[in-house]
Amino acid sequence: MKSVVNPSSTKELLKQFNFRMTKKLGQNFLIDENILDDIIAGAELTKDDNVLEIGPGMGSMTQKLCESARKVVAVEIDKNLIPVLKVTLAEYDNINVINGDILKLDLKEVLKEHFGDSKAKVIANLPYYITTPIIMKLLEEKLDLESITIMVQKEVGDRIKAVPGGKIYGALSVAVQYYAKPSQILFVPPQSFIPQPDVDSIVLKLDILPKPAVEVESESMFFRVVKASFGQRRKTLLNALTAGNFGLSKEQIKEVLISVDIEENRRGETLSLQEFANLANTLNKYFS
Ligand code: SAM
Repeated sequence: MKSVVNPSSTKELLKQFNFRMTKKLGQNFLIDENILDDIIAGAELTKDDNVLEIGPGMGSMTQKLCESARKVVAVEIDKNLIPVLKVTLAEYDNINVINGDILKLDLKEVLKEHFGDSKAKVIANLPYYITTPIIMKLLEEKLDLESITIMVQKEVGDRIKAVPGGKIYGALSVAVQYYAKPSQILFVPPQSFIPQPDVDSIVLKLDILPKPAVEVESESMFFRVVKASFGQRRKTLLNALTAGNFGLSKEQIKEVLISVDIEENRRGETLSLQEFANLANTLNKYFS
């Protein structure tokens, strides 16, 4: 069984295995071979690379990954897809399929077991219902990753790569850009999937930074400040931070803002990562 990527072979497989797609698992399968090739090219895969794939589905991208990479580990939650993958991936000996929930797995262990001390690349057509938790897990657990190339809902991808000043710049933009440099490699219309999703998609490549984009004394304080600043988007920074449970009075917050040269009436969505870091590092001093 070689190709599962065109509409008729995909439908044939679905019929053969009497497989019903589950909407709540985000099952929209890619049926456009050009898009698959573009994703592999965009991820800059080589035969030396180890790949972690999330949600192989019926294995259309997995086949390409096996052909282009050294070793592939694919994590699929739906046990009904495991027999399908056994058939579609039968001819490859560099694949390990794990039947499990990506959010519950100890990924450090998984990567160590399969790839030893070598780095890995994540490549995935993500299940959209858990896009953010998956990305944050991959980034926060500080795994040995080189890059993360993912298909996401366009609206979420736009937020991830947004720059300060716009309406869509938010906590997700800051969190991802703290760990990685995002770039868009592809636009993907709904017609490229079975069944067609209700939304447009884009493929993003997140290049993991050798060290975080800004220096912070306490990551937890940095993310607390980011959360408080965006939590009350219509409020000025002074009011948002005063309401942010830092245990500081309005006067003290004012002092902090003056000391880092940030005007009190600015809003969270105008702050650069460096300004968030300056703010967090100064606030941190009040607690040490
Ligand atoms: N890679 C395939 C393709 O491109 O055609 C399928 C992509 S589909 C958008 C998402 C896949 O993720 C589905 O196969 C779904 O069963 C799987 N999935 C959903 N939730 C998951 C989870 N928590 N852990 C692992 N896989 C999951």
